[in-house]
Amino acid sequence: MTRYYPASLALEDRRCVVLGGGPLAAEKMQGLLRAGARVTVIAAQAGPEIRRAAVDGRIALVERDYISGDLQGAWLVIDASGRDDINAACRREAEDRRALLNVADRAQLCDWIAPAIVQRGSLQVAVSTSGESPFLASALRRRLEQDLGEEWEPFVRLVGALRRRLREQGAPMERQEAVYAALLRSDVRRLLRDGEHDRASALAEEIVSKPRQGRVWLVGAGPGEADLLTLAAREALANADVVLHDALVEPSVLALARRGARLVDVGKRAGGRRFPQERINALLLEAAAAGDEVVRLKGGDPFVFARGGEEAAFLAEAGIEVRVIPGVSSATAAPALAGIPLTLRGVASSVAFVTARGAGPEHGDLGRLATNVDTLVVLMALDGLPQVAARLADVLGDAQPAAVVAAAGTRRQQVVRGDLGTIAENCAAAGVAAPATLVIGEVVAAAGASEHRAAAV
Ligand code: SAH
Repeated sequence: MTRYYPASLALEDRRCVVLGGGPLAAEKMQGLLRAGARVTVIAAQAGPEIRRAAVDGRIALVERDYISGDLQGAWLVIDASGRDDINAACRREAEDRRALLNVADRAQLCDWIAPAIVQRGSLQVAVSTSGESPFLASALRRRLEQDLGEEWEPFVRLVGALRRRLREQGAPMERQEAVYAALLRSDVRRLLRDGEHDRASALAEEIVSKPRQGRVWLVGAGPGEADLLTLAAREALANADVVLHDALVEPSVLALARRGARLVDVGKRAGGRRFPQERINALLLEAAAAGDEVVRLKGGDPFVFARGGEEAAFLAEAGIEVRVIPGVSSATAAPALAGIPLTLRGVASSVAFVTARGAGPEHGDLGRLATNVDTLVVLMALDGLPQVAARLADVLGDAQPAAVVAAAGTRRQQVVRGDLGTIAENCAAAGVAAPATLVIGEVVAAAGASEHRAAAV
């Protein structure tokens, strides 16, 4: 609940009155001038900025304190006088004349309050906490300002011009929306940011003539919660028509998919229903061929033990445009979140990634690999952990330090330490559940950073 109704006022050529002559009054004056208002400033002592505006003829300056009657014909009034007597008197007059009044820093005397604004040409984003915390409002504004780069000004102008044209041509709403969605997810904004205005316009024209060009993004979601998503992954999710995701992807990540996007869980759950790879390929192909923006979302990195390479090859073969957005792999992130560095000067200078499954039942390759690297990271670690640890102990010895990191980057994150002789037992005792990653090497015992638990954002 808030007592404020948000609105953007058309003030062009309308009389607006500012009371006070200090820096705050000057700031308010400037805001009103930007909206094309006819501004009168009333102040016994006006600062240099206000004086200059008066000399330039951009405002009318009345050089005395406010008196009753000054608000005649005013649409909007801002009292920045900072004086209680003026505040009270102009509150009364505003009430009588139905002029909308804002008294700086006196919320209870205000008919309206000004939001914090991000402005990019015609685009305005207003942030208001209904006066609860101007600090939070302006902190949020600064964040939005960073998110909405300067390119949004020409981008909004370009989309606006295209919209007017499509409407004149009587293009059906559905086609218009397809064009706007395609413009939003295209490279047009990036080209504008780089100052490539001609190329941006040319691309926009291409999109207008053929808005629905399906393509597939192979996107890495990182492990755990949305914290470890890349900016590119977030953008792809925000633009998606369809998201085909693995079982490992957390709800906080899926929540970033565009509202209205179709979410399909194609996770291959062990023991449960298996979604065969051919079926996933067929779904990807079908959606892209229908013109959808498809996100194939995988835990970690799409090209690390994730069959992303196969999917990319299949789609390319079928003539579908495929783009890859790398992700933070659990192979590096799970140890890091547990405070275990994979390389450490004087301790470890090489590392290998392998899966327990891929190592085969006899784990011969695993043993050979382990003798040739300093640090070994084993994914899918709970598949036959006792056998894997025993095989590695054959070549590295029972005392080789080992740790298992499970559900890294979630609130369920669990780190179990030990050595090759004890790790399987310790995990069983701790009731560790998948997904889990095993790290073996001296780095596990070296003093490292403390465990960090990523939280849902
Ligand atoms: N492409 C993924 C790996 C998929 S294989 C990546 O780059 O991270 C699945 C394995 O990844 C799991 O068996 C486990 O070893 C590891 N894994 C995935 N998510 C994990 C997590 N949150 N914590 C620890 N290990 C994880």
